[in-house]
Amino acid sequence: MNRRKFLTGAATGLVAGAAATTLSAPAIAQGKRDLKMVTTWPKNFPGLGTGAQRVADRITAMSDGRLNVKLYAAGELVPPLESFDAVSNGTADMYHGAEYYWQGKHKAFNFFTAVPFGFTANELDAWVTFGGGQELWDKLSAQFNVKSFMAGNTGVQMGGWFNKEINTVEDFKGLKIRMPGLGGEVLRHLGAAAVTLPGGEIFPSLESGAIDATEWVGPWNDLAFGFYKVTKYYYQPGFHEPGSGLACGMNKDVWESFSPADQALVQAACYAENNVMLAEYNAKNGDSLDVLLNKHNVQLRTFSQDIMNVLGEKSELVVAEVGQTDDLSKEIYDSYIDFRKKVSRWTKLSETDYTTARGTALNI
Ligand code: CA
Repeated sequence: MNRRKFLTGAATGLVAGAAATTLSAPAIAQGKRDLKMVTTWPKNFPGLGTGAQRVADRITAMSDGRLNVKLYAAGELVPPLESFDAVSNGTADMYHGAEYYWQGKHKAFNFFTAVPFGFTANELDAWVTFGGGQELWDKLSAQFNVKSFMAGNTGVQMGGWFNKEINTVEDFKGLKIRMPGLGGEVLRHLGAAAVTLPGGEIFPSLESGAIDATEWVGPWNDLAFGFYKVTKYYYQPGFHEPGSGLACGMNKDVWESFSPADQALVQAACYAENNVMLAEYNAKNGDSLDVLLNKHNVQLRTFSQDIMNVLGEKSELVVAEVGQTDDLSKEIYDSYIDFRKKVSRWTKLSETDYTTARGTALNI
């Protein structure tokens, strides 16, 4: 967005904020407020769009309609990727989206969605809630007049759909793959031509051969897009998005105009979605994987450890570069990497070792 438009928008936000703060707190606490929520998702898009709708409906229900949240799907009020600006400048009151979509504003936003070889959903929650992540996030978002919360997670994503087997890192050379963001940068280090395409353009591009491979989300969302009709090999794990967190961001002036009770209500409504969305993804990914493998004969493949080692090495370089953007990026990066070292040891001892042993013992 151009600077002039941004500055004009920011000024509007300040005026709106000033107006809000002239109302007495009790008047705001007792009076009905209509709130506009914008999203980066198409209307009722499974998991993400429906999750945003649940946050809006939950705030309205929990406040008995006093905080009346109306959801605007992608493009209804503003284009999807302008959701952040709309909230920053007060055009909308809140957004539901993925923080890494705002990496053009600040690279450090990546850490609050997912980075290659980064946190799983559980680990991200642990860092944000108890590892200093929320405080760093507040510091980052405050620069844009936004206050954000975790409000959803897709869980570990899949590595993607490929029209050939990927046996060595050489197989990435020249591969045209849809993989946005930092994951795409990692693959470019291996000679792949990584591109960004919006959801609706992926299937036709894969079908026509304009791209050779794509990542999207996981079995549930991928089944709905029908990638199995044109590609055979479904790879795991999704090194690039090991637990993508979704967020609700609120205009900071609006947030600060809320009573402590309403602030707690909004926070609780977002936190609830953080659990509900992950539960839905886990439940539906399990069902959909079964359909893909047994009904559509999809060939499940795992990236070899040799490939993962190289992807890991390149990922560390790409993520470290994000951490060098400025002082705040460095602070966030250092906190993230330090936390990952400690929590990953625990994750291995707990979830990884247990589920591996369970699978072997029961052959499931
Ligand atoms: Ca993805």
